[in-house]
Amino acid sequence: MKTLSNFINGQHQPSNSGRSQPVYNPATGEAQMQVSLASADETRSAIAVAETAFQSWSQVTPLNRARVMFNFKTLLEQHRDELATLISQEHGKVFSDAQGELTRGLEVVEFACGIPHLLKGEHSMNVGRGVDSFSLMQPLGVCAGITPFNFPAMVPLWMFPIALACGNTFILKPSEKDPSVPLRLAELLLEAGLPAGVFNVVNGDKEAVDVLLTDSRVQAVSFVGSTPIAEYVYATGSAHSKRVQALGGAKNHMLVMPDADLGQVTSALMGAAYGSAGERCMAISVALCVGDEVADALTDRLQQEIATLHTGPGTGISPEPHMGPLISQQHADKVRSYIDTGVAEGATLLADGRKLQVANHPQGYFVGPTLFDHVKPGMRIYREEIFGPVLAVVRVPSFADGLKLINEHEFGNGTAIFTASGEAAREFAAQVQVGMVGVNVPIPVPMAFHSFGGWKRSVFGPLNMHGPDGVRFYTRMKTITARWPTGQATTNQFSMPTMR
Ligand code: NAD
Repeated sequence: MKTLSNFINGQHQPSNSGRSQPVYNPATGEAQMQVSLASADETRSAIAVAETAFQSWSQVTPLNRARVMFNFKTLLEQHRDELATLISQEHGKVFSDAQGELTRGLEVVEFACGIPHLLKGEHSMNVGRGVDSFSLMQPLGVCAGITPFNFPAMVPLWMFPIALACGNTFILKPSEKDPSVPLRLAELLLEAGLPAGVFNVVNGDKEAVDVLLTDSRVQAVSFVGSTPIAEYVYATGSAHSKRVQALGGAKNHMLVMPDADLGQVTSALMGAAYGSAGERCMAISVALCVGDEVADALTDRLQQEIATLHTGPGTGISPEPHMGPLISQQHADKVRSYIDTGVAEGATLLADGRKLQVANHPQGYFVGPTLFDHVKPGMRIYREEIFGPVLAVVRVPSFADGLKLINEHEFGNGTAIFTASGEAAREFAAQVQVGMVGVNVPIPVPMAFHSFGGWKRSVFGPLNMHGPDGVRFYTRMKTITARWPTGQATTNQFSMPTMR
């Protein structure tokens, strides 16, 4: 069976760690290959390579670094179907969804193509007589990215195009569950003209991550994954004097107002709750209905739509299923046990995905679309991230009660309001304690030229992913105050210097 390992210094390098694990096709349950789990020493050797490569890559002009990104963008477009097929085979999301993931990742590469403009820094002339001041945005050095299984292309692409364009070198530690696409991205970067050693992939687990968090040669760590690991990465990396941005889990609410267009709400919720089998950090997993009338009408409509939803393997052949399998047997069992918990907690189960059988795929990790009504804030299915195709309807008496619930929840990644009232939407946007807000938009993922990140326990660290925050995260400012011509101040000055 094929074994994937690391990509270091422009080459695939077999691992001698002696540790590996299978990579499954979630639609069939078959192990399709193995992935080695890098040792601490292998991770350190990747850091050494990236540190050496930084010496020359950081000296390449921004224009020429941008040209590599332009070539990379073209290659991603040329290989889009091949990459989407790989995503679908290892993650399980349907092919059209995998294509969408690639498009959102590609947009960050397009943003990075503009790096000469983004690195211009600041300049003030004549801050004092004959004195000018200017700020340079310089690269940090070796940066690391640790990424989750649910977007094997897009989340790494949130990070490394900007890091590389800013002049850093990079080590990606992708999820061990779907490692093929990150390795393919490394090959395409090389083909795009990126020098060997500037971008490296280390496949592994906690052993590799701990080296990236503690080795003093790594300057910055970007992380996306579950909240407990995000918190650990932030605490450990920060304690070792690194810059860290760590994005965690979510429980995203949609507030449905009585004046909302319920047809629009229903189709928005179907995609936002069940697309990618609910394995999106921006999936809507709670619908807060203002009033029983809205809840009754919406649950009726949702049940009708769920009856037509097709779950199965993503093939790319039209008509494709709407939703694929979950990532692993273990995760499918966990999602089913949350449904058991919801029933035991007294929520009303209107659609039950536990027993779903997909023809010709008896071993696939499928769970069908699930809908609960009368979910209460004290229930585990309300409080915890399930990360599967399970939507909870919570009935609230008013806008204020709905807003309060959202603000009290521990997570604050994404949210949405559906309403015909500009006043309600404006108030919601101003008051809600969540980082990304949709107004009649169910999944408000910011474009690449804005920044992506939540609030509360959905994020650790002050700077978000991509957009202006991404450029700030991967550069440090140096501010120079210069006097030309010299020779003006000839006396010793012991008081705090001020400009005259
Ligand atoms: P995860 O936290 O299990 O793994 C993420 C990464 O951390 C992987 O590379 C993994 O190998 C590594 N890791 C796992 N355990 C570790 C440990 N003990 N020590 C060090 N490293 C460890 O997350 P996942 O299951 O791959 O992804 C799903 C989670 O990611 C969900 O909670 C989802 O909400 C979250 N997510 C968040 C965002 C966001 O933008 N906020 C985006 C995508 C996914």
